[in-house]
Formats: sequence, structure tokens, C-alpha cells
Amino acid sequence: MTYHLQTPDYLCSNCKRAFIPFKKDIRCPWCNEIENSSGEYYGFINELTYSMRVHKRMYGKYRPPAWLLSSYADYIQEYTYTTFDYLVSNPDKDIESAMKFLNFDDEKESCYVQKILCLVNEKDKKLSKNGSLRSFIKKCLNIILGRFSN
Ligand SMILES: [Zn+2]
Repeated sequence: MTYHLQTPDYLCSNCKRAFIPFKKDIRCPWCNEIENSSGEYYGFINELTYSMRVHKRMYGKYRPPAWLLSSYADYIQEYTYTTFDYLVSNPDKDIESAMKFLNFDDEKESCYVQKILCLVNEKDKKLSKNGSLRSFIKKCLNIILGRFSN
């Protein structure tokens, strides 16, 4: 089962093109106007990062074997998964060089997607750190509990 974010297309109130207003006072990537959305997309980066990690656990890859593109969020998910799979198989590369691999025609969209990828990368690193902290605490607890049972 794939994890689609089910995010309906948000249309810029100025130019009417789709994008994800994932933070307050974000500029539309297409027309550069500041967008005052109602905030329903502010959790997008977190959800995107979780979805990526869920896929990795289920399929061994960030991008699931089949991925349907029906909304702009699906495209963003596609770019994200493809990039992070690329970075796994090319550990010497960074997000900036992965952007060349994605090969955007539109410079504005490329900037916007790169911003999202950097935020996802930060979030993913934080989650990994917490994960290893959790297993460290578990190990310590097991040692302590082991001592008590002896
Ligand atoms: Zn716009």
C-alpha cells in the first residue's frame, strides 16, 4: 500500500497555478506573490518525510514500485522519493546535484522543489537521530533491567 498524502491541489489566489503553501507567508513559486493560506498545508513537510520513511520500510526504496500522479502533491512526492533514492545510490552527490538529475524545465519550480527537498532532508535527519536515541535508551534499559533480574 502506498502512502499518498491526499493533498488536494491548492491554487494560487493570484495566478491560479497549483502549489503547496507549506509555511506561513510563502511566495507562490510561479508568480512570486505572497500567499496567505489557511494553514492546512503547514504539516506537509512532516507528512512527506513520514511517507518517504514508510515506503522505505515497506519497499526498501523511497519510491514505491507503482506511483500514480494525480495531484501536484503526488508530483512533489515523486520528486522527493526519486531524489532520495538517487542520493542513496550516489552517496557522493548532494541535493543540488540531484536537482540536475531531476532536470526541471522551469527554474522557478526547480527552486521551489529544492527548498522542499532540503526541508525534508533536515526533518529526515532529525527523525533518524531520534530513532537511534530511542534504541540507545532501550539498550540501556535492558542492561539495567538485566541487572535487576540477576
Ligand atoms: Zn501564483
